[in-house]
Amino acid sequence: MVAVGNCATYGGIPAAHPNPAGAVQTSDVVSGVPVINIPACPMNPDNFVGTMLYYTMTGNWPALDPQLRPTWAFGTLIHDNCPRRDHFDAGEFVDQWGDSAAQVNFCLYKMGCKGPQTYNNCPSIGYNDNTSWPIRAGHGCIGCSQPQFWDELAFERTITSQAEGPGIFGLGVENSADKIGAGLLAAAGVGIAIHAIATGASRLQARRHHTADGGPDETPPPTREAAP
Ligand code: SF4
Repeated sequence: MVAVGNCATYGGIPAAHPNPAGAVQTSDVVSGVPVINIPACPMNPDNFVGTMLYYTMTGNWPALDPQLRPTWAFGTLIHDNCPRRDHFDAGEFVDQWGDSAAQVNFCLYKMGCKGPQTYNNCPSIGYNDNTSWPIRAGHGCIGCSQPQFWDELAFERTITSQAEGPGIFGLGVENSADKIGAGLLAAAGVGIAIHAIATGASRLQARRHHTADGGPDETPPPTREAAP
């Protein structure tokens, strides 16, 4: 049985709190039949067709991850293939929708992007014959291919507003991390955030030092996201 879309695979919006209908994921109510999940909201038809073609041509189902997703499509974090990743590593973030950083396609992490927590191949295949996908369109990933995405990930809030406690350098710690059993992921996220901020601070300090000495400011201007 192949479940498609986040509602079928993980309960999706119908199973969101307070879940008045008692909605559950397909694998919870099916027994004796192997279930393959093709999640996302909406599911990418390329991932469904690719999975069915794999079975048709080989007679076997593709390898699955612990969430029953085909690893060929869901084996990599969006963050790892994101065209804005260089800006993340450089500590270059959008702080407000429509600001100057947003206009040159800086990283959306501080705007709540869930690419570091979401496994899907959106950066590689896009949607609608690769016409676009959320991050290319300027909106952060909402984690729609993850379990519990609506309750735990899909909030259009900044990282700071999601924080519990003082946070890390003002960025905050996402309050969903421990609830979804992603402690290791959260630790990794904090680590890369610290790395990104430190890199940005180092660049800024070097730039200030250089200009204070009267030298030219040779910091390269921000670049636009490469066209697909
Ligand atoms: S945080 Fe989001 S926008 Fe930034 S590099 Fe990762 S996936 Fe891309």
